[in-house]
Amino acid sequence: MRAAAPALDRWSTATGEREILLAGPRSFCAGVERAIEIVEQALHRYGAPVYVRRQIVHNTHVVHGLSGRGAVFVEEIDEVPEGAVVVLAAHGVTPEVRLQAQRRSLRVVDGTCPLVSKVHAEVRKFAAAGKTVFLIGHADHEEVVGTRGEAPGDVLVVADPEAAERVTPPDPEQVAYVMQTTLALAEAEATAAVLRQRFPALAAPRKDDICYATTNRQHAVRDIARESDLVLVLGSRNSSNSLRLAEVAATEGVPAQLVEDAGEVELSWLAGTRRIGVTAGASAPPQLVHDLVDALSGLGSVQVRDITVTEENVRFNLPREVS
Ligand code: SF4
Repeated sequence: MRAAAPALDRWSTATGEREILLAGPRSFCAGVERAIEIVEQALHRYGAPVYVRRQIVHNTHVVHGLSGRGAVFVEEIDEVPEGAVVVLAAHGVTPEVRLQAQRRSLRVVDGTCPLVSKVHAEVRKFAAAGKTVFLIGHADHEEVVGTRGEAPGDVLVVADPEAAERVTPPDPEQVAYVMQTTLALAEAEATAAVLRQRFPALAAPRKDDICYATTNRQHAVRDIARESDLVLVLGSRNSSNSLRLAEVAATEGVPAQLVEDAGEVELSWLAGTRRIGVTAGASAPPQLVHDLVDALSGLGSVQVRDITVTEENVRFNLPREVS
């Protein structure tokens, strides 16, 4: 009994009545739903195996689920047998990757989110007009690698306001900016503000690059964070938009934890909490939210309140290879 005492203690401090605030919107966005459906339809139409370059979306559960149905995830195009079907992930790729696929005579189905493709098009347009393009984003993120690849010699990646203070384009009169789609709104805007102030000729994209799903999920998590003792964000650690949700919640002064699923929640986080905010990144399946609510219900009675800041009805068409 003495050996079990610490565990029992953790358990008893974690139990109790609670309210769970569910942020809405949360979980899958239209680009992620489309990318998953593309792999499912490719499997249906062409049969297994269907190769997928990189994680189709940044979520471990999604990748495991599709692997079990015949999708084979590879890092690079040269791992795909000649002539096979390959799906390109939602984050987009460089034009060089498309060329590699062509050289291997692969049947390509493009899972790039249309909102990422839009940013690629902006980079091509600005670069063709002779401008240096500041790409506000994280240099090592796959989306940024892909976007930058549209005009590698003309794109300068700018991570944050400090980097924006230092960046030096060849011609300060010929500059433009674009953004990674999944950034924290406030920080990205602060970075753009520095660029605007330093380069009055700065050209901007016609429409915001941070996508509707990122924007809505950040507004929603901020709302629930204000009322919560703890915020739990479901998502994988390599998911940019999930990481940003935890950061946005933390800016409201609330402890926030990013977890892959309910199994990662530590009892010590729950001690003394009476109201827990829950959300999920755009690549995290809705089922994970249900599972987390169920797990929390096992620690005492819960009341669930859905706080939806806006309804989403965005839907993207599938590419013709699978529609
Ligand atoms: Fe597309 Fe935005 Fe979803 Fe990324 S988060 S896949 S850009 S809708």
